[in-house]
Amino acid sequence: MSSSPRATSASSIGDASAVVSARLFDRASSVIPGGVNSPVRAFKGVGGTPRFIASAAGCTMTDVDGNNYVDLVCSWGPMILGHAHPAVVEAVREAATGGLSFGAPTEGEIELAEHIVERVEPVERVRLVNSGTEATMSAVRLARGCTGRTKIIKFAGCYHGHVDALLADAGSGVATLGLPTSPGVTGAQAADTIVLPYNDLAAVAAAFDAHPGEIACVITEAAAGNMGAVAPLPGFNAGLRELTANNGALLIMDEVMTGFRVSRSGWYGLEGVAGDLYTFGKVMSGGLPAAAFGGRAEFMNQLAPLGPVYQAGTLSGNPVAVAAGLASLRAADDAVYAALDSNARRLGGLLGEALTAAGVEHQVQFAGNMVSVFFADRPVTDYATAKASQTWRFPAFFHALLDGGVYAPPSAFEAWFVSAALDENAFDRIAAALPAAARAAAAATPEGIRA
Ligand code: PLP
Repeated sequence: MSSSPRATSASSIGDASAVVSARLFDRASSVIPGGVNSPVRAFKGVGGTPRFIASAAGCTMTDVDGNNYVDLVCSWGPMILGHAHPAVVEAVREAATGGLSFGAPTEGEIELAEHIVERVEPVERVRLVNSGTEATMSAVRLARGCTGRTKIIKFAGCYHGHVDALLADAGSGVATLGLPTSPGVTGAQAADTIVLPYNDLAAVAAAFDAHPGEIACVITEAAAGNMGAVAPLPGFNAGLRELTANNGALLIMDEVMTGFRVSRSGWYGLEGVAGDLYTFGKVMSGGLPAAAFGGRAEFMNQLAPLGPVYQAGTLSGNPVAVAAGLASLRAADDAVYAALDSNARRLGGLLGEALTAAGVEHQVQFAGNMVSVFFADRPVTDYATAKASQTWRFPAFFHALLDGGVYAPPSAFEAWFVSAALDENAFDRIAAALPAAARAAAAATPEGIRA
């Protein structure tokens, strides 16, 4: 529900009403590089003033200027139940009252691990970490440790966190800022990473042929969400399963974004292709910093203290984060997944209608209940086609939505995330904001990106 009177006077919301945000951004920029703690938040891909958020409840967020927005970012995925869900807040309050961190095991960690194992059948053992980056870094190390091989395959446009070896041609903020990779990644790390086009099984087969016995693993987003929502083509993940198995390499399914969002068992629940190792984050943390990696026991048992592959964390399994994650997963029942799916379809329908009415070429794409808009004349299936789309239309589209009280991802290369908390009022507000946004996208020019 909207809680601010501004929410209904959509046209009053714009950079003109971002006075306090602008002041905070200036202040932040003098102590935090770029004024933000994660690059996409700086609005570089769309221009204008990043909104500083004061609070959020249900399907809306309110910024420091008092503007209220329907939230279609959901903290980049975690908030499937909506913001400040009472059961999650209560679980956090209770856990915090009992102590913030012990550096010793707790029962909650077992429960969270059991919950994950119960939901994702190929996962027999789980280790908790603090971020998706840590999860993928650890999974890759484990794959190398288990196989004794060094090279890894990743796909262009997939993002697996800011792990050195995984930054090449990455999606998300790396794509938004147009970076091929990052200074600071050594030549050796880059040389051990083979980057291939997403959805291209022939390229994977050729890489295995070119590097016999050298490739430790293939890591893939179970369904890509970091170049926008780009689902694997039918047979792609199954083909990866076969090629890795035939070549003695492990398949790492990165479900940090899709896990526990696109179904109760993540992308695995939709497709049923089993990876050897999995990475999770976002939803399973309820919005607090927690993540996990897991997989078959024969591999996971190579981790210290059972095996030689080292991995550790002072705050791993933090009791407050675990409580938030458990409460979120417990509340995420069939009704929540049905609502997520129908909200995504409804959002996609509204986006398509408005853009069609404005006469602008577009693709509304889904990967499960993750949604994206590409200004393209044909479906986007990989990073090359994502980059070839008319991304210059996106800033105008984004800002008109923001002006209309709808907070979409501030980048053409990100998925849009719905929550189960989206209600009729939220959809009315989205429907009201879209026509002007679609017209703005139609009128945009490649030169017109906002400073
Ligand atoms: N893997 C995927 C698929 C992601 O989408 C992300 C983040 O968006 C990560 C890994 C990294 O997670 P984190 O930002 O928690 O380090």
